[in-house]
Amino acid sequence: MSDATRILLDESRIPRNWYNILADLPAPPPPPLHPTTREPVGPDDLAPLFPAELIAQEVSTDRFVPIPDGVLDIYRLWRPTPLIRARKLERALGTPARIYYKYEGGSPSGSHKPNTAVPQAYYNARQGIRRLTTETGAGQWGTALAFACAQYGLACEVWMVRASYDQKPHRRSLMRVYGATVHASPSAVTSVGSKILAEDADSPGSLGIAISEAVEVAAGADDTRYALGSVLNHVLLHQTVIGEEALEQLAAFGETPDLIVGCTGGGSNFAGLAFPFIREKLAGRMNPLIRAVEPAACPSFTRGTYAYDFGDTAGFTPLLKMHTLGHTFIPDPIHAGGLRYHGMSPLLSHMYELGMFEAVAREQRECFEAGVRFARAEGIVPAPEPTHALAEVIAEALRCKESGEEKVILTSLCGHGHFDLSAYDRYLSGELEDFRLPQERIDDALATLPRA
Ligand SMILES: *Cc1c(COP(=O)(O)O)cnc(C)c1O
Repeated sequence: MSDATRILLDESRIPRNWYNILADLPAPPPPPLHPTTREPVGPDDLAPLFPAELIAQEVSTDRFVPIPDGVLDIYRLWRPTPLIRARKLERALGTPARIYYKYEGGSPSGSHKPNTAVPQAYYNARQGIRRLTTETGAGQWGTALAFACAQYGLACEVWMVRASYDQKPHRRSLMRVYGATVHASPSAVTSVGSKILAEDADSPGSLGIAISEAVEVAAGADDTRYALGSVLNHVLLHQTVIGEEALEQLAAFGETPDLIVGCTGGGSNFAGLAFPFIREKLAGRMNPLIRAVEPAACPSFTRGTYAYDFGDTAGFTPLLKMHTLGHTFIPDPIHAGGLRYHGMSPLLSHMYELGMFEAVAREQRECFEAGVRFARAEGIVPAPEPTHALAEVIAEALRCKESGEEKVILTSLCGHGHFDLSAYDRYLSGELEDFRLPQERIDDALATLPRA
């Protein structure tokens, strides 16, 4: 075992391929279905929304997908990212466990999201597309896509969930600095948004509504496509650069992981870290336990159902077989905005059904407590989303303290919390609440599941 604290890789060690776990699964996940015909969707159905190359990646079963030079050129701005041993946190906890975190907060927009925003913008630009539309909740995805569009000269239009638009003016400003146009969602510029505003002029919005707006605009213009920051296979594929680097770095530390922990909203940072390790596990080279952590206020794995559902509120998207709380479910306003999505990646949902990893849920306040503890020990203020993973890591490290076990724990610190300090303020002044999610709310939303 190395006595290093950080393993930094040379620029030449940026992975040259993304890893496609579809090549190694015992069975493929159920296909997306057309929202009206209920037949599996084909490339032509998706062409108004995504460029051909991303549609091909969505269904590809090639084990490795080469990363184009035009993408590597931009990845070099911040990749490889460091793998850091949390020695100060270990000491503060008094644990014999060894804790490692892959830090993705050093990207231009401060999270793992540019790992996929960059290739998505790249493939659209290469196909001659002029404008991308998207939604954003907490603002991390919108910022990442705005940054990526600026790199390739694309226009970028973002529908930002109203509640965040009002609470997080600085994320909005950052998107504008990168050149994007930002709308509060629901907005009057789409027919979906206008309809919702007519019913409730003060609607706080939701990710599902914002997706409907961005999809409506992209589907209505030839030179415009839509970009999604999580959930889809091609997004998870792009994020595997995280795990590929971490594999090499952890080996340089002289370690193999016993436990891998990640937070899950749509599942992309978790998959990005875990998939290359799952490949090694399937090949019999290591045997880590893998655990997803979701918020108790939006528990799609632990309390949702595995069924075909829409990805958005209005029902424009294909039906996806996934762990879902129902497309009409609007989660309570927890501060981990990136984890407030009713559904889950269909690929991860399928793997969860196959028993390839486990999932737990954590409450908001214990997560902020973990975030503060981590910041005081390690110096980095985590985004509210990865504090869910940190709460689990800390609980596990304390269990190791009881048992004396020297577990090797690996997690993804997928973003910094510099734009979330008002949430930390609320936690520190005791104003933050946990939300009890009554079963009726889940049942009500699940009653609106489409019949597949
Ligand atoms: C978007 C986001 C998430 C949630 O999305 P996943 O696809 O589940 O990773 C988590 N953490 C951060 C920092 C994010 O920006």
